[in-house]
Parts: sequence; structure tokens; C-alpha cells
Amino acid sequence: MSPPTVQPPPPVLEALPAHEATVGGGMLVRRALPHRLRRRVGAWCFLDHYGPVTLAAQDAGMRVGPHPHMGLQTVSWLYEGAVLHRDSLGSLQLIEPGQLNLMTAGEGISHAEESPAGHPPGLHGLQFWIALPESRRHGTAAFDHHPKLPLIARDGLAMTLIIGEALGERSPAKVYSDMAGLDIVCQDNGARRLPLDPAFEHALFLIEGEMTLEGQAMAPGTLYYLGLGRESIALGNRGHARAFLLGGVPMQEDVLLWWNFVARNTEEMQKARAEWESHAARFGEVHGYAGPRLIAPELSTRLKTR
Ligand code: MN
Repeated sequence: MSPPTVQPPPPVLEALPAHEATVGGGMLVRRALPHRLRRRVGAWCFLDHYGPVTLAAQDAGMRVGPHPHMGLQTVSWLYEGAVLHRDSLGSLQLIEPGQLNLMTAGEGISHAEESPAGHPPGLHGLQFWIALPESRRHGTAAFDHHPKLPLIARDGLAMTLIIGEALGERSPAKVYSDMAGLDIVCQDNGARRLPLDPAFEHALFLIEGEMTLEGQAMAPGTLYYLGLGRESIALGNRGHARAFLLGGVPMQEDVLLWWNFVARNTEEMQKARAEWESHAARFGEVHGYAGPRLIAPELSTRLKTR
């Protein structure tokens, strides 16, 4: 008698619709992370997709006034347009498509982001946060601009590795968890398998065009969570299409998000909130932004990690 065949569990494939939110300047975004059913993918803990929108020359475009961060890195990645970054370290940096802005908040930093004067008409991009591990979250703040990133061509895909490691390449951007962030453009129509690191959990977000994932049509504005342990995924497309792949080793720490902060408990949040509102040196000062700093919301409830 032969032993019973044990079927492995089917790989996870969860479709998580983003919700709409507005950010500075009234700009509408699709917020894919955190999701009620999925707080993080590796150390990736926040994902906004904005645009594409067409701005008239007189439109202010993006206007996000000075605000603080702690315990996280911000990752800015553009498909169209330009965004001007200013921070409390004195950085003043224009970002354009194909470039990465990476800001490491550590214990505290503040910044502002705006469409520059004489901006181009289009605006389309992604804004991510990466949760910092305990070993780095209390450290000093830093800002880096990366105009050149590894480009990977394979099976009709033109990819840019913006964060971490994938497909034998490594991004120059300094991160503190094992992870990957890969921009994927489908150049040729077709179907192919993209190798993944099975030690990572992954998720895929469609940016534009028509694509299939594991044979299923991808809906726009939806994050497809792929779980851990996959060796590869099947990607198909018809015509020009673009997606973004997030991956990373699942974070074991109890990460808490509130407003613009990542911490571990409510007391840390209350302290950071009070220090921002009292203009404490911790978050510094952003110079040169023509507008008010953002006011922290009230925090009266106890926050729970999930
Ligand atoms: Mn910010």
C-alpha cells in the first residue's frame, strides 16, 4: 500500500483593495498599506499610489507642509513629474522619474514636499514607508538621493531595483531589513515566470496597463499579497504595463503606526506628538517652505498592534 499523498497548501494569493485618502494639497491617493487585513509586507508598512493627474501650469500640485517622522524610512518613487523635497537636515532635492529619494527618520526628522515652480504637467508616483528595526529606529536621521539604480532586463521585462536585493542585484539605497522593491515594466507582450526569494513575503501592485498574475487579471488599485515561500510568479501582459513588487522577511517586532510615526507603544507616540507640537529640537526645522507646518491630530486612545 502506498502512503497517502500529502498535498502542500496552496500558495497564498489575497486581493487587497486599496482605500482612497487625501494628502496635502487635496491630492487623492490610493492607500494600499497598511490594509485592515495586512499591515505590512516585510518591513514595507505604507504604500500610497497617486496620479496620474494632469496639472495646469497654475495648479499648485502637491503641497505637503512640514511634518515629522520617526521610526521609519520614506521612499519616494516617481513615474511622471517632479517633486521638491526639503528637510530639517537642510536637504533640498528635486526628484524626477527613475530616481529614488530615501529619508531615514531614525529618532526624528521633519520634511516638506511640493510640486516645484514651473512643474511639468504630469504627476504620478508612489510613496512608501519602511519600518525601521529596533537596532536602527533610535538612530540619527539621514537623507539620500539615488539618481542611478540597478536596471535589470529579463524575459521582456525592464526592471529597476530601487530597494534591497532581487535577481542577483542590490540597490545602493541603505536599508536595515532584508527586503526588495522592484519596479517592473512589461515591454513585450507575453507570459513569463519571475523568480522570487522564497525567504521573503511578497506583494504586487499594478501601476498601469493590463497584467495577469498567476493567470488572474489584476485589478487596478489592488495589492496582491503572495505570502512567503514562493520561488516564482507568473506574469502576463497585453500592451505596455507596469507593476511594483514589494518583498521582505516578515518583521517580528510589534510595529505601531499612527499619523506620521512608527513606534512600539502609545507612550512613544504621545511623547513624539508633544515634542512636535512644542517645536522640540528632536524634529528640527524645515526652512524655505511657503506654508504652515502640519498639526498633529489628538491622540486620546490607546493604540494596539495587530
Ligand atoms: Mn512625509
